[in-house]
Amino acid sequence: MTDRALTELKGVGAKVAERLASMGLVRESDVLFHLPIRYEDRTRLTPIQSARPGQWVQIEGTVIDQHIRYARSRMLIATVADDTGQVILRFFRFYPNQQRMLTEGQRVRCFGQLRWGNAGLEMAHPQCAAVGATPPPLPTHLSAVYPTCQGVSQPLLRRLIEQALDRLDHGDLVLAELLEAAKAPMSIHQALKRVHRPGPDDDLEALIDGTHPATQRLAIEELLAHHLTIARQNQVRARYQAPALVNEADQAQALAQRFLEGLGFEPTGAQQRVIQEVLSDIAQTQPMRRLLQGDVGSGKTVVAGAAVVAAAAAGVQSAIIAPTELLAEQHLRTFQQWLEPLGLEVVWLSGKVTGQARQNALSKIEQGAEVIVGTHALFQAPVAFDRLGLAIIDEQHRFGVHQRLALASKGRAGTRWPHQLVMTATPIPRTLAMTAYAGLDVSILDELPPGRKPVTTVAMSQQRRDEVIERLRQVLATGRQAYWVCPLIEESDALEADAAETRAQELAKALPEVAVGLVHGRLKSADKQAVMARFSAGELSLLVATTVIEVGVDVPNASLMMIENAERLGLSQLHQLRGRVGRGSDQAACVLLYKPPLGELAQQRLEVMRETTDGFVIAEKDLELRGPGEVLGTRQTGMMRFRIADLGRDADLIERVHALAQGLSATVTDQLIERWIGPAEAYIEV
Ligand code: ADP
Ligand code: MG
Repeated sequence: MTDRALTELKGVGAKVAERLASMGLVRESDVLFHLPIRYEDRTRLTPIQSARPGQWVQIEGTVIDQHIRYARSRMLIATVADDTGQVILRFFRFYPNQQRMLTEGQRVRCFGQLRWGNAGLEMAHPQCAAVGATPPPLPTHLSAVYPTCQGVSQPLLRRLIEQALDRLDHGDLVLAELLEAAKAPMSIHQALKRVHRPGPDDDLEALIDGTHPATQRLAIEELLAHHLTIARQNQVRARYQAPALVNEADQAQALAQRFLEGLGFEPTGAQQRVIQEVLSDIAQTQPMRRLLQGDVGSGKTVVAGAAVVAAAAAGVQSAIIAPTELLAEQHLRTFQQWLEPLGLEVVWLSGKVTGQARQNALSKIEQGAEVIVGTHALFQAPVAFDRLGLAIIDEQHRFGVHQRLALASKGRAGTRWPHQLVMTATPIPRTLAMTAYAGLDVSILDELPPGRKPVTTVAMSQQRRDEVIERLRQVLATGRQAYWVCPLIEESDALEADAAETRAQELAKALPEVAVGLVHGRLKSADKQAVMARFSAGELSLLVATTVIEVGVDVPNASLMMIENAERLGLSQLHQLRGRVGRGSDQAACVLLYKPPLGELAQQRLEVMRETTDGFVIAEKDLELRGPGEVLGTRQTGMMRFRIADLGRDADLIERVHALAQGLSATVTDQLIERWIGPAEAYIEV
């Protein structure tokens, strides 16, 4: 099958094509892979007598009455009878041709959902067609119902898919033998026909939830195409060069050693291992693309520090970006503290650095300052590096692939690319990591710094807030510090800030002896920084905050956290927030305040939080409760948007995919990539 643009199909003009494109439907293969959300069974007629309310049925009979009722608006009402009974059809809106069709004596076929009305069985807005004296034969397969959008109607999609399916017969049968070996002995054509036009006895549930052999056949091929794409990308990448730190490797090791000795603590075994992995990567001329996964508090920043030091020793610049101002500012302080004693210059750039300060930062970056810390501002247009050799993205699940590439490409010169280190605390279940991050090498920090005790977690109704405040008073009296987190669910910084402000005032009133601070997204950068610095220094004992503190914030003396509205947060967000405490050697605690009554899902989430502090277990549970799209974050899915496959459901196919990929010819590989991923320029990324 050679793919065509949809504009070559009947009934697709420029305007329609544009609307289709907005749904991601551009080529013939796109509509073929646009799967139904449900099916309608029009293969049989149901005698009216045996039809039940709630059922979707097709009936055939004669119109015995029609009238228009004038209530609030015009309503068309018709009665259809067969030999066994009668049904009322109601149309709250109708066209003249519907009214003409439903005249007395006309034979009609109607499909709709039945319900009980005042006058017996009725259907609202059924789909009706007039049938003559000799009714046309019933279809032999079920009718598919597709996801639609404004301007792309169901009948239009059906027509396009029909055309595409009919052309399939004349196509080739790529891979039939291979898939036989994969125990999915069905050609892609058979699979597509099965999914779009199942027979009346097919397992519809399996077709919809994707466990049907036909859907599985499509999923395996899609996963295979992705796998092959990644392998292709790796080949392309092999032609790129990174600044080779080979000659300077000894020097880099030595400086990294000095850096580690200056830390004031012993790196964990996991940190040492991962640091060596990174150092040996960047001693290659092949650009490093490494993902560092480590649970909250596992000490990823130290690894980043060692990499930066090694890069500086080799005479190239490093850029570190973080998703929030707050976290980036914290990195700035950390790196200044670690690196300035080694004689390295650390430059700060965020969107809030303006005027002369911005000019200064930009010119330092251009003149080759060794270390640049910042936010999104770093990959925006006017920033030009002298020699960017290492790009580090912290909390990378908060960024899109394009943002990662935008930063890396700042260090591009011809075929030269910088090394890339991406770090995340959002653990990805092993089953997903392989596919979601295929193409990245993965390092795991699987050890927490010594002396950490798991955070004790309790869930409490917010009605017991007074008790919680009392406990807070006792903890703070011992000299420890605490967070009070007020997440609001509305997507508004302003509302969230207001709620936090109100809560801070209440708490200050209830705890007059306590120094209370407040931080939220609407504060000016300098003010935020000042509050954080005072909390860090222990001048403030209680920090009321919005979810701006969710990522990265590190104040080891803080050992108690209260989270309001906990029932409305997802597992990974709760885990991230809770990770702000338990970073010192004190026993830490987390109180999840919820508003009763708890829904079933919320109850399960809080239960998981109480039972474990292991990020991987939490991620697996999250996957179970939510599905992979959300676990990986919506932005993340840009990296692995599947049409049919579902990594949660199809994890067991992945191994087979790897086996299948062995020994495929270049032609077949081309065909598969073209079919599922599109033309080459659409997928090449580095
Ligand atoms: P994360 O992996 O969540 O980014 P951080 O890098 O912020 O973790 O480290 C968490 C805290 O643990 C920091 O205060 C850091 O200084 C400290 N830390 C990191 N490594 C060690 C270690 N090996 N021993 C003791 N403390 C450490
Ligand atoms: Mg961190």
